[in-house]
Amino acid sequence: MKISFHGAARCVTGSKHLLTVKGNRKILLDCGMFQGMGNQTVALNNNWGFDPAIVNFLVLSHAHIDHSGLIPKLVKDGFNGKIFATPATKELTGVLLEDSAKIQEDDVKYVNKRRAAQGQPLLQPMYTKADAERAMDLFETVEYDNWFKIEDGVELLYTDAGHIIGSAAVHLRITENGKTEQVTFSGDVGRYRDMILRSPKEFPQADYILLESTYGNSLHDLHKPAFNELLDWITKICIQNRGKLIIPAFSVGRTQEILFALNQLELERRLPDLDYFVDSPLSIETTEIVKKYPGSFNKTIQKILQTDNDPFAFRGLKYIKNVEESKMLNFRNEPCVIISASGMAEAGRVKHHISNNVENSRNGILMTGYCEPNSLGARLQQGRKEVSIFGVNHEIHAQIGAIRSMSAHGDYEDLSQFLACQDASKVKMLFLVHGEYEVQEDFKERLLRKGFKDVTVPELHFETGLS
Ligand SMILES: [Zn+2]
Repeated sequence: MKISFHGAARCVTGSKHLLTVKGNRKILLDCGMFQGMGNQTVALNNNWGFDPAIVNFLVLSHAHIDHSGLIPKLVKDGFNGKIFATPATKELTGVLLEDSAKIQEDDVKYVNKRRAAQGQPLLQPMYTKADAERAMDLFETVEYDNWFKIEDGVELLYTDAGHIIGSAAVHLRITENGKTEQVTFSGDVGRYRDMILRSPKEFPQADYILLESTYGNSLHDLHKPAFNELLDWITKICIQNRGKLIIPAFSVGRTQEILFALNQLELERRLPDLDYFVDSPLSIETTEIVKKYPGSFNKTIQKILQTDNDPFAFRGLKYIKNVEESKMLNFRNEPCVIISASGMAEAGRVKHHISNNVENSRNGILMTGYCEPNSLGARLQQGRKEVSIFGVNHEIHAQIGAIRSMSAHGDYEDLSQFLACQDASKVKMLFLVHGEYEVQEDFKERLLRKGFKDVTVPELHFETGLS
C-alpha cells in the first residue's frame, strides 16, 4: 500500500490524495481545485501528478470546491470509475459544480473576446456544464456510520465531520495479504460548538491518518458571539446611519449561519424591522438543500425545529433570483441588509453591490470569512483609501468590518478533540494536509508531544509506502 499527495500539500486548496492498494488499484481521496494561488493556479490545476484514467474510485469527503472542483476535469481526462459521497454531499456537489462550470465558461468567454481582437488563438474552458453533468452520473451515495464494501479487500466508512452538511471523515479498511489496516482521511474537520451542525464524530482506531491542519496552531475567538456582533453592525449601519449593510458570504455554510443568527435574533425579539435580502441564486439553492438534512443539525437546532419549522427564515427576509431584481437594489434609498456571494467578494453579485455602495459613508461592508490576501475582501480590510473593482477606482467611505468568530474549520482544540478517540501509539503514520506550512510545522511538534510518533508534512506529489 502506498500514498501520494497531489494537492492541499503545504497549502489549503486542491485537496487530492491517491492511495494505491494491492493489485495496483487506485483510490483517489477528494478531487479539489486549487484556488487563489496567484499566477500558478492554472498550472497547478492542469498538472495532476497521476493519470486520471487509471484511477479506479474517487471517495469524496465533502462538497466544497477546493475538495470537489476538479471532478469534471478528472472525468474529461479519462476517469470512469464510481464516485462515492454522502447523499447531501452529492446534492451540494451537483449545484456547486454546475456553478463552477458556468464560471469557467464565462471567464474563458471574457478572455477570448480580447484574444480574438488581438488575433490570438482562443482558449477552452477547463470544463463545461456538460462535463459537470457527465461527472454527476458516476456518483453513488453512501450513508454515514455503515461500513460499505467497495470491492474485495476495500471497505469504506463515512463518519460526520461537522464541517458542512454532508461532510465526512473517510475511513478505508484495506485488506492485503491477510492483514487489515485502516487509513483515515479527516476531510475538513468542523467545530465542537458549531452554530448549526452536529459535532465531529468519534471513529475506529486508524493505522494511518491524513489530518487537515488549517487552524492547527490557533484558537478561535469565542468571546464575541457572532449574534451580537451582527446585531451591532445592523444597528449602527441600518438604524443609526440609515444605510445599507452588505455582507459577503460563502453560499454553503456561512450564508445559512447568518440566516440562522438573524432568525434567532427575531425569536428573541431583538431583530430590527428591516428588509433582509439574500441575493445569490446559488445560496438560495444550497439553503434549500441544507433544510433537507435536519438530521445533521445539532441538538439546539433540533429543539428550535419543534417550534420553528424553518430556522433560516424570518420576518423581512427576501430571496432574489433574477439579475433585474438584483440591480433594483441599487436604486433603493431605504436601509437594508444584503447577503450575497462570494465570501471573499472576488466574484458574483456581491462585487457589484460593493462597487455601488463602497463610496457612501452611510453604508457598511461586513466580511464573515477567510479572504485570500489578493481578494477584494482582503483589500477592503487593509485600511486603504481606494480600491479597484472591475477596473474602476472607488474611494472607500463605507465602514468596513469583519466577524472573526465564524469559521467552519475546527481550531487546535477541536482537532485535538477529533483525535481524542485514537490511541496515538497505535497510529503508525500521521500526515498533515490542508494547511499553511508554518502552521503545519508547529502543529506537528504539538502532535509529537501528544505521543504520535511519525508525523509528516508532505510536499506536493510526495509519495511514500505504508506499512
Ligand atoms: Zn471545506
